[in-house]
Amino acid sequence: MPMASPISIDSQDALLAIDLQADFMPGGALAVDGGDEIVPLVNRLASRFDHVVVTQDWHPPGHASFASSHEGAEPFETKRLEFGDQTLWRDHCVQGTPGAELHPDLAVDFAFVILRKGMRPGIDSYSAFVEADGKTTTGLAAMLKARGVKRVFACGLATDFCVAHSALDARAEGFGAFVIEDACRAIDANDSLSEAWARMNAAEVWRIQSAEILGPSR
Ligand SMILES: [Zn+2]
Repeated sequence: MPMASPISIDSQDALLAIDLQADFMPGGALAVDGGDEIVPLVNRLASRFDHVVVTQDWHPPGHASFASSHEGAEPFETKRLEFGDQTLWRDHCVQGTPGAELHPDLAVDFAFVILRKGMRPGIDSYSAFVEADGKTTTGLAAMLKARGVKRVFACGLATDFCVAHSALDARAEGFGAFVIEDACRAIDANDSLSEAWARMNAAEVWRIQSAEILGPSR
């Protein structure tokens, strides 16, 4: 197979580094397999972009996305909440706790903004753009547009939840959207990964590999 032609990154491109936090790393409350492996790659990618956004899941205690907040509920079950169906999780990324901290090796200095999400007690936000009610904006789209951004490249955790929702919402906001597959790791519960890729394919979110940006690794 010939090498795919490299994607040239310019000042109209932004990188979203999603939720690279202790609780999503191996040993964390909601560990994603291999979550720590991608941090050096995300840092190399971030060095190529003029606009880098780091997101941080940042829940108050007793958040509606926690199974522990609903009597008799178990993690990974789906519950109908006021704003729609919500997958319930173990408590994670509680504001101010060690589990909510960004990975210590993440090169946060590349980021012009650290965007915190999921802060309201009753509503989740997988997406960096719009909360789970489908209408409350985080303001990120406006911020990127103000900086002249046309294309959004997403990486981080987890492919099938916060990365996918962010990439889909980037498309919905009129950006070109790409997911850098090898700079992500997935949860893949109940076929969630294949479903996420199907939705992204349908929305023309492009699946790429980091080498298409960085060039072949040696
Ligand atoms: Zn969360």
